[in-house]
Amino acid sequence: MNTALNFHANPVEPAPALATADFFDVASQLPEHERQKLADMRAFLTQNIRPHAAEYWTRDEFPHHLLRALGDHGFGEIELEPGSRLFKGLVYAELARADLSLSTLVGIHNELIVGGLMEAGSPEQQARWIPLLRTFRAVGSFALTEPEHGSDIAKGLCTTATREGDEWVINGFKRWIGGATFADFLLVFARDTADHEVKGFLVETNRPGVSAHKIQHKTALRIIPNADITLDQVRIPLANALPGAANFSATNVLLRNSRAWVGWEAAGAQMATFDVVHHYATTREQFGHPLAEFQLVQQPIAKILGNATASLAMMAQLARLQEEGRLQMEHAALVKASTTTLARESAQLGRGLLGGNGILADREMGKIFADVEAIYTYEGTYEVNSLIVGRAVTGASAFV
Ligand SMILES: Cc1cc2nc3c(=O)[nH]c(=O)nc-3n(C[C@H](O)[C@H](O)[C@H](O)COP(=O)(O)OP(=O)(O)OC[C@H]3O[C@@H](n4cnc5c(N)ncnc54)[C@H](O)[C@@H]3O)c2cc1C
Repeated sequence: MNTALNFHANPVEPAPALATADFFDVASQLPEHERQKLADMRAFLTQNIRPHAAEYWTRDEFPHHLLRALGDHGFGEIELEPGSRLFKGLVYAELARADLSLSTLVGIHNELIVGGLMEAGSPEQQARWIPLLRTFRAVGSFALTEPEHGSDIAKGLCTTATREGDEWVINGFKRWIGGATFADFLLVFARDTADHEVKGFLVETNRPGVSAHKIQHKTALRIIPNADITLDQVRIPLANALPGAANFSATNVLLRNSRAWVGWEAAGAQMATFDVVHHYATTREQFGHPLAEFQLVQQPIAKILGNATASLAMMAQLARLQEEGRLQMEHAALVKASTTTLARESAQLGRGLLGGNGILADREMGKIFADVEAIYTYEGTYEVNSLIVGRAVTGASAFV
């Protein structure tokens, strides 16, 4: 460990207003047992994850023991356990409130890896991986994006899968793949050279021909490593193909759900922003008064709280659509684009409100400010999600 860095023993003092970041008390819609469970999970995150995140973020280091601890507290099995969509969404928001990097890993894990296996995996694939995944004794990475294809991945995807006897041979490159430097397997999307459909395959990372290199010098989400992947003549058994992912529409279902999850993440990032600015404005004095007494300080605090409240309200209604089986891609795209934009605005205001301390990761605000840039881009950029909404409401596709 690098002991040269001089962190506060407990860099994030608990803000006095943790409860009020959910200003309209969206959590009150939960039944009592879910409210209690959410409170327990929040307490675990506040005490065990949030105070340590800035240190690992600054070191650009992944804390494996914290992932194990998250697994021991049920965060690896959010999509496997019973519970309302609102409860699960608020758990995702609390995770993001504690730290956006770990929230990214946990969200991808639940929505895209566990979700992908449950949605499209064979009974054998589920039996092999799900018991390990639910406690984070195994980790999978979602490998869709490529160096030359991000927003246009559906049409542009170049990685190939060729059937040879009783094996598939996978060739290609993937980029930005979260957690892939330590994952046990990759969920790789590759184009079948026979029928040109994009299909899903489980590729164990210890197979010959698989290599992962950490992308260096990231200025956001520094706790979770993202990797460039090379797949060079990688041979997997036929049984590693996901039977339910034989074309891109299977991926679309997963992407719809994961965009909804990012909406919750953005809401959580705004709750964290509120926690930090509220604490700072009520404890920091200038001109002989707490900052909170100045009108020009109260206005951005109200704006940040308004943005968080609007995001939570939007997400609560999205959860209801999801419960009723009415969630469409354009709903998920709208919340993803809107809530991440609000998170970005709030983080900018919060950064300013903390003055010089606003650019420090160990005062939390600098970390949130940097991290919201990444959630604004992944799971479909702001522009791409806007185009999905635009296509749905105008009937005209602006995609070329
Ligand atoms: C931190 C991080 C983690 C990620 N994790 C994963 C992961 O685990 N697995 C995975 O598969 N991928 C992952 N990604 C990839 C992510 O999904 C892509 O970055 C995203 O889809 C955008 O692709 P791109 O970066 O190639 O940008 P590009 O597609 O090159 O876009 C560049 C810019 O052009 C704009 N643009 C593109 N097309 C249009 C258009 N038609 N009209 C208007 N504007 C347009 C975009 O909005 C953007 O502003 C991650 C990315 C990041 C940054």
